[in-house]
Amino acid sequence: MSEEKKMSIGVLSGLTDDGKGIDKIANFGLDCCQLVSWNMNQCTKEIAEANKKKLAEKGVRVTAFWAGVPGPQSWDFQRGPITLGIVPPAFRWARIEALKKWADFAVELGAPAIITHCGFLPENMTDAEAVNVAEAILEVASYCKRKGLEFWFETGQETPVTLLRYIEQVGTGNLGINLDPANLLMYGKGNPIDALDVFGKYVRNVHAKDGKVPTNGKWLGPEVKVGTGMVRYPEFIAKLKEIGFTGELIIEREISEQEGQNADIADTVKYLKELI
Ligand code: MG
Repeated sequence: MSEEKKMSIGVLSGLTDDGKGIDKIANFGLDCCQLVSWNMNQCTKEIAEANKKKLAEKGVRVTAFWAGVPGPQSWDFQRGPITLGIVPPAFRWARIEALKKWADFAVELGAPAIITHCGFLPENMTDAEAVNVAEAILEVASYCKRKGLEFWFETGQETPVTLLRYIEQVGTGNLGINLDPANLLMYGKGNPIDALDVFGKYVRNVHAKDGKVPTNGKWLGPEVKVGTGMVRYPEFIAKLKEIGFTGELIIEREISEQEGQNADIADTVKYLKELI
């Protein structure tokens, strides 16, 4: 009798020059991860090779590379729309180039996809900028496709149906979603459980993160430890199972090590193991 494939648990980890950060992942007893960097100076063949070697040595699989882009970023509703991702025209082309460099890096690293926040995607398709943003996504997605990579959207800054519409419109066949259920709530854009009915078939990885809805018009809702926010993890995981998701739950905890990040990650590993 064949056993049903279960979701895997991994962690989001900052890229280190020598790959030593991967030791920490292995120390949690995890065998998969996403690596993230916002520093273009780390986008070198040497660093990719050092990390690839360390991944193999530790038996850790990298499910995607989270590609940060240069320039200002305001994680709020005030300057977010004019600073985040490839939506703001002022930064668009420089960031497309940065994403292409990270795509090359991902190939060297052996990651199957790159992920980024594209920004506050225009919700209204009659907005003149909507066409330009779709073209920018097409440019990055086509480049990734030529390299044999997928290009995944990190959720948060747009409603689920808006994201679905861009995926359909760009239509390169290598677009997917890194669903961060907490972000949908923290940006007030949707409910992650319902969102799975909208775009579930495109979800490739999930960020295991929790949060709450915003309670004023300027600032995002708070991020909190998994299981203590508004995602409703038992129902969320049940819904992922229902739609047949067997990918990775990548733990993301946006506090520092001094604030107890490692302890929270260890607790979340235990919590998720019970649920899957
Ligand atoms: Mg996330």
